[in-house]
Amino acid sequence: MSALESNLEKARQYLARFDQTPCLNQIGGEAVAASDGATFEIVSPVDLKPIARAAHGKAADIDRAAKAAKAAFADWAALPGAERKAILHRIADAIVARAEEIAFVECMDTGQALRFMSKAALRGAENFRFFGDRAPQAADGQTLHTAGQVNMTKRSPIGPVGIITPWNTPFMLSTWKIAPALAAGCTVVHKPAELSPLSARLLVEIAEEAGLPKGVWNLVNGFGEDAGKALTEHPDIKAIGFVGESRTGQMIMRQGSETLKRVHFELGGKNPVVVFADADLERAADAAVFMIYSLNGERCTSSSRLLVEESIYDSFTAKVAEKAKRIKIGHPLDPDTTIGPLIHTVHEEKVLSYFDLARQEGATIAAGGRKPPEFPDGCYVEPTLFTNARNSMRIAQEEIFGPVLTAIPFRDEADALALANDTQYGLTGYLWTSDVTRAFRFSDALEAGMIWVNSENTRHLPTPFGGVKNSGIGRDGGDWSFDFYMETKNVAFATSAHRIPKLGG
Ligand code: NAD
Repeated sequence: MSALESNLEKARQYLARFDQTPCLNQIGGEAVAASDGATFEIVSPVDLKPIARAAHGKAADIDRAAKAAKAAFADWAALPGAERKAILHRIADAIVARAEEIAFVECMDTGQALRFMSKAALRGAENFRFFGDRAPQAADGQTLHTAGQVNMTKRSPIGPVGIITPWNTPFMLSTWKIAPALAAGCTVVHKPAELSPLSARLLVEIAEEAGLPKGVWNLVNGFGEDAGKALTEHPDIKAIGFVGESRTGQMIMRQGSETLKRVHFELGGKNPVVVFADADLERAADAAVFMIYSLNGERCTSSSRLLVEESIYDSFTAKVAEKAKRIKIGHPLDPDTTIGPLIHTVHEEKVLSYFDLARQEGATIAAGGRKPPEFPDGCYVEPTLFTNARNSMRIAQEEIFGPVLTAIPFRDEADALALANDTQYGLTGYLWTSDVTRAFRFSDALEAGMIWVNSENTRHLPTPFGGVKNSGIGRDGGDWSFDFYMETKNVAFATSAHRIPKLGG
């Protein structure tokens, strides 16, 4: 039996639970169907065959979940941080114990390759450990002194929060948002993406089996326009942590305005990787290729605009094109696969439409640019490189969200900076140069929330994560997450009998 055949057999076993029972909601510690009994079909992007049905939650289900989260809040918030820490560590252990199941289900649900998803569970577990370790100090504040006054600040959890996640790497992103909320003492209603809900079901089960009290974490499956919208409008939900498209963020802000929701948005990107001629070009090429062609290019931090100094533009883009052509497309469960199918036929059509657009706009397709003929059934597209592009083209301005890279030449540092900043987005930037002074100068002026110099994206969890411009509002990571999920209170104590103004005698 080949590795793929044996992995397919394992995937069948892991998915068999969904043959009889749909992917249910979890409310107040109970696995429940949608209140009107509705379900929707989950199709694998590998072969467009159904793999499960999910409960189709709507406003009534969100209301039940929000009430359950509200009822569980006081006890969870009052639990000593050390006890929340212990529970979060048990969740991490349980995630690791089911790492293979999580990876296989995620691959079949999203089309992501096993070589990347096999680490998703470990990354998810690490999120629980990292924020769990900080739970005992989450409430800590400062004391601020002035003449005649001592001020004490402390933080307390904001209340039940809504977490809305997208379909790209759903398991990892769910843990990234939910772990800090729980560590802070918030209770949660999670609405995962309708295109990839299966690993969220595993995650909430794992958490409760590991000892998370009932109602602390609730899950409602459903679509953005009903379940998602109801969550953002619910009066008992105090904040929304959202990861998704910029235009959905705009809608959520409108929807949440009546109840004055606190929002944290991690949105889209069109991130530049800027390569100067003095860089280590082999490493720069490997990093650029990794950041656009790993995870099917369906990652918010992907380096989707390649800005290359004119003198090396032809040789560098030729190097990238060669690498792109050698990338192996295949079944996500094949251990050798790098690129699997995109999430859905609608997204596949969107990505394919940019191949025609590139030709119309006058760019050259230096690699890929079509649906691979050997994979006619699933949502596959070839890793693609557009050269001879200009930054004003739509292929350089719009988030394609697939394995598609647009390469643009620049004259000098000033030109590179102007091109890099000429976008509505500002999530990440990647800079390749051996000139350290330039690296400081350039990264200072580059409009992005996160910049890596001479590196691909490697996350250090205490650092801030988030974007500027249309790429987001707020920061995650380290203590920044607690600022979002907690309220800060200041109490001022008089330390002397200061003069109080006397009004009215
Ligand atoms: P999306 O915005 O279409 O959907 C995300 C979630 O929002 C889904 O759960 C969806 O059901 C829900 N939703 C949709 N409409 C809603 C509404 N009116 N009210 C409430 N919820 C609603 O995004 P997607 O297509 O699933 O994901 C891809 C996008 O996510 C890309 O733009 C990508 O850049 C972005 N993303 C950003 C980051 C980051 O950290 N900045 C990380 C991952 C993905």
